[in-house]
Amino acid sequence: MTDLFPAPPVPRVPVRGGGAFPVRRIFCVGRNFADHAREMGAAAPASKAERGQPVFFHKPADAIVTGGADVPYPPGTRDLHHEVELVAALGHDAPTGELDGPGAQALVIAYGVGLDLTRRDLQGAAKAKGLPWDTGKGFDYSAPLSDLVPVADVGELASRTLTLAINDEVRQHGALTDLIWDVPEIIQELSKLYALKAGDLIFMGTPAGVAALQPGDRFTASLDGVVELQGAIVG
Ligand code: MN
Repeated sequence: MTDLFPAPPVPRVPVRGGGAFPVRRIFCVGRNFADHAREMGAAAPASKAERGQPVFFHKPADAIVTGGADVPYPPGTRDLHHEVELVAALGHDAPTGELDGPGAQALVIAYGVGLDLTRRDLQGAAKAKGLPWDTGKGFDYSAPLSDLVPVADVGELASRTLTLAINDEVRQHGALTDLIWDVPEIIQELSKLYALKAGDLIFMGTPAGVAALQPGDRFTASLDGVVELQGAIVG
């Protein structure tokens, strides 16, 4: 069979040290820092035993913006919010059967820092009606992402922090020790719902301090000491 039109290109993320990471799917985790859950009006679990199930949603693979390219202010919103997040990149297909923690961690080949851009007004309206978040979360250019850094070059992840500055003012800063569900735990939970494969990205959730972006704003997102992403919102 012949394609009826040229197949769209697979989004690719540069990897430090060489090569590119072809993106298959983007999974996102909601409410994964207690301080952010509280600022969004949700209860934060008091202990691991009380955390229930993680909140998952998706963005389309072609929402990725790489290389610090400009991010167009999206249509349909008056309240575009930033959420700085650790991003885990899977370089192996998950085996069949239940994953243990080390097996889950072994799927990750690289990390980066990204923004889960959110049309907060649309997400809020959907939440209020018990409707899906798709229009608030899964829009064009909604996933700016840094270059990916191989796990061997990241070193100990748990002690790292995330920082986001807008126009040189720090808006968000959080420690990965405060994640409610860590990377292997999230991969284990996702693997119960989806067949995870090489090319999957996981946006791990944001710490407190989410706020509005305006056209002209410059952002610097950082997985501190590992990798940085700079860009601008353009109107
Ligand atoms: Mn998020």
